[in-house]
Amino acid sequence: MNRVTLNYLCCPRCREKLTERQIRFRHKELISGSLCCEKCSEEFPVLHGRPVLLSHTKIHEWIAPIDEVLSQGENRKPDGPFSLNRLKKIGVENAIKLVQKPEKKNTVLTCDILHDLKKLEGRIRYIQSGSWISARDRKKKCVEALENPSKSVQKFIEAVVSKKPKTLLDLASGSGSSVTSLAYNLPADTSIFAVERDLKCLWIIQEKFRMIKRSNNSEAIGGDVRELPFQDESMDVVSSIMALQEISGISIFLREIKRVLKDDGSYFALLNREPWLYGIISLDEYKAFAEVADLYSGIDALIGLALKTGLTVTDYKVGEKDLCLVEIRKAKK
Ligand SMILES: [Zn+2]
Repeated sequence: MNRVTLNYLCCPRCREKLTERQIRFRHKELISGSLCCEKCSEEFPVLHGRPVLLSHTKIHEWIAPIDEVLSQGENRKPDGPFSLNRLKKIGVENAIKLVQKPEKKNTVLTCDILHDLKKLEGRIRYIQSGSWISARDRKKKCVEALENPSKSVQKFIEAVVSKKPKTLLDLASGSGSSVTSLAYNLPADTSIFAVERDLKCLWIIQEKFRMIKRSNNSEAIGGDVRELPFQDESMDVVSSIMALQEISGISIFLREIKRVLKDDGSYFALLNREPWLYGIISLDEYKAFAEVADLYSGIDALIGLALKTGLTVTDYKVGEKDLCLVEIRKAKK
């Protein structure tokens, strides 16, 4: 991680500035050590160049939102796509009751991030050696995807680029294909941050930045989208591709976006108009559950939530009927 990045970061819990502890550098890059919050005494590791800014109470892997709200992560393996089969088995009525049970919400699952990161050491070294990107035609496939994006991704890229952002934050970046496309199309001096809580993705995203020679200004950062480790009003543009159905806590997510955006800044999301349900459950039933559980329940509900958060929304056509591109904007003061 470039030392300059520290200027944008903060403690995800209390938003205090972070201080370096036992940091090892290579050139201007932070390689290992930790970043500390003096206010809440929490210490966040930097491992093989990547900062992991997740509170110790946050789960650091992807869990289907249905499982996260129903079982607080006890069931980590989804039952069918997005764990829709689990929701069907429990029944929507029962599931709504479970979400509303206050004692359930107080359950906190703690993780030993450092212990789990140690298990990733071998894999991280393999990725950083350059062998991962060279294997299985990955490099070729990445370049092809960058040069020939789908029509909807092209529209998304154009919308982001048209804002000429100096700072861009991509949320729930997964393995980094979409944020790499943005980095590839934005000027080289744009500061780009990709946030992902599934830690094994961080070094893959960074490797893709390296492949397109953008790793100096682009950083993959471990973080939770509901507790962003970024300072207030630090971003010109926030982005996400097909991420909303993978997130629980949509209203908190929107509040965090509003907090980190500068005035007149925009959040661009490419998303499915309605949740994908694979014929497992009816749309009406799912929406009833999703609205109570604060999960993505379709574009109309998202627009409603954004307006309630004090943001404005423009809905663009992208030419693929089940997808849409929205611009959610923070008005000038
Ligand atoms: Zn703190």
